[in-house]
Amino acid sequence: MTENAISIQNLSKIYAGGKQALDNVSFNVERGTIFGLLGPNGAGKSTLINTLAGLVKKTSGTASIWGFDIDDNPRNAKANIGIVPQEIMFDPFFTPRESLELQAGLYGVPKSQRRSMELLKAVRLDDKADAYARTLSGGMKRRLLVAKAMVHSPPVIILDEPTAGVDIELRQQLWEYVVELNNQGVTVVLTTHYLEEAEQLCDQIAIINHGKLITNQPTKELINMAREKIVRLTLENDIIETPIHDAFEKVEMIAGSTLEITYNKDKMNAGEVLSVIQSMGLNIVDVTTKEADLEDIFLSLTSNAA
Ligand code: ADP
Repeated sequence: MTENAISIQNLSKIYAGGKQALDNVSFNVERGTIFGLLGPNGAGKSTLINTLAGLVKKTSGTASIWGFDIDDNPRNAKANIGIVPQEIMFDPFFTPRESLELQAGLYGVPKSQRRSMELLKAVRLDDKADAYARTLSGGMKRRLLVAKAMVHSPPVIILDEPTAGVDIELRQQLWEYVVELNNQGVTVVLTTHYLEEAEQLCDQIAIINHGKLITNQPTKELINMAREKIVRLTLENDIIETPIHDAFEKVEMIAGSTLEITYNKDKMNAGEVLSVIQSMGLNIVDVTTKEADLEDIFLSLTSNAA
């Protein structure tokens, strides 16, 4: 029953003022995975994360973290999750070591169980343990945020996309650490705008738009969708029967004499599609092709739900 790291059922949020930020969202995050939560700006990602963090009060639905319902058992739910916020906010007069000690104190971690230096080492900030936070670079601050989210050793960590001022090298470093954490058994949820990143890192990808869950599937399946290619054919005569072939994944009649065939480009090329159609005795008068990539899929999924 508690196999999921996070379980969300029929979650809705309507802000005071009437804005519906989440609309009946349900999904599970399996333990031990890296889960990507994608969606354009304003989709509802932060609302969802903040609901889990106990910062936003949901309108309806249920959510649990590591088997603990956020309403019935908020303390345990909170103890099992670490959240890395988007915004960097530090007291400039605390050193990284002090920041971690303070955070551990907030979570009630006894002194004997604190592991500030170990965490600083893990995020490669051990040589900055006693430097003032204001002397740290943007990248160092970001890594300190990750360490802060880990002080109570939660089995689940959520990284809200670090956007502004994060360069490629820093992202790489951050993701390397995320993978390292995951290898140690930590379940990771990350929000990102970058499909490529999600593709590389995540086992499973959910996309939300306008507060609605549009898709939630293994990354491999999403990428398979990107292997699909579409050819649109206009035939001389109206079609009576839909042409069928093993390598056709979908055949759609657009109008009497126009067909759209979705095929797997690993199995067939456009020329072969045409041959198959011609061998059925159908004469082709016009052809256009279209290739889907992850970006396309993302766009089509998010625009369909508009
Ligand atoms: P994302 O993180 O995907 O960019 P958000 O969860 O921040 O999306 O926002 C979802 C929608 O809810 C947006 O339309 C946003 O303007 C609205 N929203 C967010 N926070 C509030 C709030 N405190 N009050 C009213 N509306 C809000």
